[in-house]
Order: sequence, then C-alpha cells, then structure tokens
Amino acid sequence: MPGKNFYITTPIYYVNDVPHIGHAYTTIAADVMARYKRMCGFDVMFATGTDEHGQKIQQAADRKGMTAQELVDSVVVNFRNLWEVLRITNTDFIRTTEPRHARVVQYIFQRLMDQGDIYKGSYEGWYCVPCETYFPESQVGDGKLCPDCGRPLQNMTEESYFFRMSRYEKPLLDHYEKNRDAILPHSRYNEVLSFIKGGLRDQSISRTSVTWGIPLPGDERHVIYVWFDALINYLTVCGYPEKEDLVGKFWPTVNHIMAKDIIRFHCIVWPAMLLALGLNPPATVFSHGWWTVEGDKMSKSRGNVVDPFEMTDLYGVDAFRYFLMREIPFGLDGDFSERALVGRVNSDLANDQGNLLNRTLQMIENFTGGAVPSGQGTPGELDGMIRDMTLATLGSYRAKMDVYAFDEALKDVWTLIKRANKYIDETMPWKLGKEGNLERLGPVLFTLCEVLRFTAAMTSPFMPGTARKIFDQTGIPGDPAELLLDELEWGGATAERRVSKKDVLFPRIDLKVWEKQKAERDAGKTAGPDPGDHEPEVTIEDFRKIELRVAQVLKVEPVPKSDKLYRIDLDLGYERRTIVSGIREFRSPEELEGRKIIVICNLKPASLRGVVSNGMLLAAETADGKSLALLTVDSDIALGSRVH
Ligand SMILES: [Zn+2]
Repeated sequence: MPGKNFYITTPIYYVNDVPHIGHAYTTIAADVMARYKRMCGFDVMFATGTDEHGQKIQQAADRKGMTAQELVDSVVVNFRNLWEVLRITNTDFIRTTEPRHARVVQYIFQRLMDQGDIYKGSYEGWYCVPCETYFPESQVGDGKLCPDCGRPLQNMTEESYFFRMSRYEKPLLDHYEKNRDAILPHSRYNEVLSFIKGGLRDQSISRTSVTWGIPLPGDERHVIYVWFDALINYLTVCGYPEKEDLVGKFWPTVNHIMAKDIIRFHCIVWPAMLLALGLNPPATVFSHGWWTVEGDKMSKSRGNVVDPFEMTDLYGVDAFRYFLMREIPFGLDGDFSERALVGRVNSDLANDQGNLLNRTLQMIENFTGGAVPSGQGTPGELDGMIRDMTLATLGSYRAKMDVYAFDEALKDVWTLIKRANKYIDETMPWKLGKEGNLERLGPVLFTLCEVLRFTAAMTSPFMPGTARKIFDQTGIPGDPAELLLDELEWGGATAERRVSKKDVLFPRIDLKVWEKQKAERDAGKTAGPDPGDHEPEVTIEDFRKIELRVAQVLKVEPVPKSDKLYRIDLDLGYERRTIVSGIREFRSPEELEGRKIIVICNLKPASLRGVVSNGMLLAAETADGKSLALLTVDSDIALGSRVH
C-alpha cells in the first residue's frame, strides 16, 4: 500500500541506568502503537536504543576500573534483555557508540558548519557535572544549585562550537502554527510555543572538558555534546544521508514518544536542527507523564524503584503491559501500585475477559461437542445488537488508538466484553442447550465467538500472548497480530473449527495469599545502596592514613540547640576525648553508654554547634537514611586497639 509508512521511536536511554518502570512504560507504549499500525497495514520502522556517551559514563567507568566502551558493552544488555522479556517488536536497536552513528553525527556537524549554522565561540556558565548541563543565570538561584539535581554548580568557561538556533526561531513558529498536532498532548503545545516566543539562544554543541564522545571533525580537542549526538540517532536509524529512499519513506512519518522532561530538546532543538538540514520536523512528538509509586516519587534512595523484570515475573508480561496502558490516560501522570495491578488482573482480566472465554468454551464443549457453530439458525434481537456494538467498538477503538488514547481504546473494548458477558446471562445458552434448542443456541455461541475474535484482535497490541491464546483456544489458526483490522469482518471466520479449552488466561489472585507474600517480599527489600555512591579507588597506603581505634562510650548528652547531635565523651585507654555525632534520632544515651565502638582518631577537629569534635564514630546507614547500625567489636579487646 503506497504511503502507508510509520516510523516510531522511543528516546535512546541513558545506558548506565538500571531499567525501571519509566523506561518500560515509554517502550511498551511505542510497541503498542507499532503493533497497532502494523494491523492497520502500515510498514513500520520502530527504533529504540541507548545513549552511551558523556562524562558520567567516563566517570562511572573510571570508578570501576574499566574503559568506557567496556562499561557500556556490559550494561547495554540490561535494556536488550528487558525489551525481549516485554515482547517489544523494535526493528532496530541503536547504540550511539556504533560507527554508523558517529559517521552521521560528523556528517551533520560538517554540513551545518559549512553552511554557517555552526560557529566557534566561548561558553561561560553554571555547569552541573553530573547532569552535564549548563544552566542560565536565571535558573540557578542564589545558591547556584542545579535546578535538576540540586547539587552545587561550577562556574566554567570553555571554547565551544555553537549551533545557530536563533536563526530558526521564526521558521519553528511558522511550522507549529501550521502543524498543531505536531506536539501531543495539546496541553504541551502552548508550553513549547511560549518558550520559543521567549527567544531562542544559540546552543553550545561541543565540549573540550569531556573525552568520551564523538570527536568533532577538524578540531579533535572537542567532542560533540551528548544531546546533539543523541538526537541524531533518529536519523542514523533511517540510514541518513545515504539511504535516500528509506529517509524519504519513513522520515516524514516519524513519531517520537518520550517522558515530558525531554520535550524541549525534541520540540525545539531537534526540529531546528532538522530545519537546518532541510528535513521535516517530527510529525508528532508525544510526551507522556511520570509515574509515582504508591503515592511517592520513585527514587533509588527511597528504595521504591519498580523493577519491570520483577513485575513480569510476578504477574506476567501481558498483565503488566495491560495495566500500564489502561491505568492512566497516556500523557498524564499516574501512580503505580501493585494492589491496583492485582485489582485489574482480578476484575478486567480474570473476571471479564477470562470468564467470557471460559464460559463460551465450556458451553461449546458441552452442547456442540467442541465444534464452533456456523451461526445458522433463528436470530434473536440481541444477536444483532451485539454484532452492531462489536463493529462500532472497532471503529471507536481505532479512532482512539490513532490519537494515542490507549486507556480509552481499552475501556471501549472492555465495555464490549462486559456486555457480552451480560448477553450470556440474558440468552441463557446453557438452558437452550439442555432444551436441545440448537436453532437458537447456534447463533448465540457463534456471536460469542465473534466477540472473542474481535476483542482478541483489538487487545493484541497490548497483550500479544493473551490474544494469541484466545485465537488458539477458539480454534482460529494464526496470530491476531498478523491480522489487518481493515479485513476484520463479522462472520469472517467461516472455516469449520473446534475449540480447545486450555489453562485459564489469568488465574484469580487470592488477595489473602497475595498480601502475605507481598509483606514477605517487602521485608526482604531494604533501600539499596545508590550505585552513584561509589568512591574512587584508594591504595592500602591511603587507607593506612586513617587511624581507627576502639573506644568506649563514657557519657552521652544532647548538644543544645540541635535536634540531631550528641556530645559523646570517649575513653581511648591512653586518653579521653570528645566527639560530636549526628545519631540522636537513632539511639538513646542509654543505648550508647558503655559500648565499645570504632572511632577515627586523626580526623581534623571541627566545631559543631559550639562543641569541638575530636574524631568521628563509624556507623552503617541505609541509602534512605532511615536506619543505622554502629560498628563495634565482637569480643573484648583493650581500649585504643587499632583497627586495620
Ligand atoms: Zn545536576
């Protein structure tokens, strides 16, 4: 079919992240759309991948004693494996460290340089090293803290190449005036436009302070700034610039899916770069919301990061995919709760969908010996109503899928599933069967099988495994994912077929058992250490410089005007001394007095709230800061003994 092409992308993910629900969400949404478009007859290109350059990668590699390339090669599998588990049907997986990508980035740089869209200048600003971002004066406040991560910023000046983005302010505004659907949901359209109207500044696109990146052609002291490099991945996948036919076929159809925090790059910087290259800006940039977890912001330090591998192990891939797409409107923020997931498994999947299949199969086995009736017989008035509703649902489902309203599309399908369950109660096929009324029984069971066939097709982009099982158990050969929705017709499955009842699709989850298991799982999980916490390597000589000794706590008193501090008097055997420690919220004076603890004795003295501290006690603390354990000795030993 000419012209039916569709290119969809996820962002490329920062390769050193541990994949979490946010990554899974974006990628599942893109996969649902890709699968749906294939069922609409589109030739689909679907790309995801990893962002592998930048200072943070180099730093992480240094800490682990690896090269940056070794590090990225070792962690990229986390994403590849997850996409396999989640049944993601991407047609490409791009890594920014691939030679095919470096070539395109260097080509684009050179071309923009040659046409005067890139120039050399110097950049001064407030720079956050972990975020690899400069922030304008207006965003950093008096404390000069990073607006993204809250860490202190450094004032830096460096030579840099700039992309002349200011030149594209007017062309971008013109583009968005004419293409109001280019930014979805529409609520973000005005946000982006007012930002552009506020004036676009030229963008720094190279760094001399970073080594792990794509070298800048002609000036190898610079590497290309990670964002400039990363955005270009979407063109690399298309085979730009050599494969003109592929670029021509797919580029005008590109849909970028992402979380809302990176829309300015995708709605301003990237389209400006594309305009400079004489290419269309993205057809659609769809930005979705963020997930909280059980009402809290998700973070490593809270220990509440949702692990998609764990969720699919516990509940199955299809239930996890269904929940994420059904629970919140695509585009809005939402809350992830396992209890809500279990609720949907039990009601939507086990009760509504699973029951419709089981009841239908059971009656066909009982009354027609397993053969699906042809539909010949005496039609009832409800049969036609169910048929019309099914066809209408297919129409509304497609209209909603076309605009990424995944939750609405699923709601429509479930309205139909529930109506079909009610139709069973109304027509009472078990009664027709016992009465031997095959004239009525045939059309009723046939109607139910058709509803199952249509709903399996419509849920296939969301729950590919389940949809296939429904086809299999109702005797339809093949995979619903390979159907064309245009060819889905009522009564279209005419071949003689037999049902084969197998395992239920979704066994009901017993809430009591689940609560018990969940409590056990939670107890086994404590907030994990933040991998960003690691320190650079030290030698044994470095370690020996720290004088650790066994001391006994003599007396503990609160430090006045402080909620957290204790003044602690210690006996080191050879001398007595005082330290100040912030452990008041964890231990009472009685719990401490008399204990033998480990103290750093040669720490530079510091005055805390007017009390001079001559040393520091050692304790282990969880990443969330909620619990603490003191280091002590496992048998009696002379005070002042050194710790090695
Ligand atoms: Zn930062």
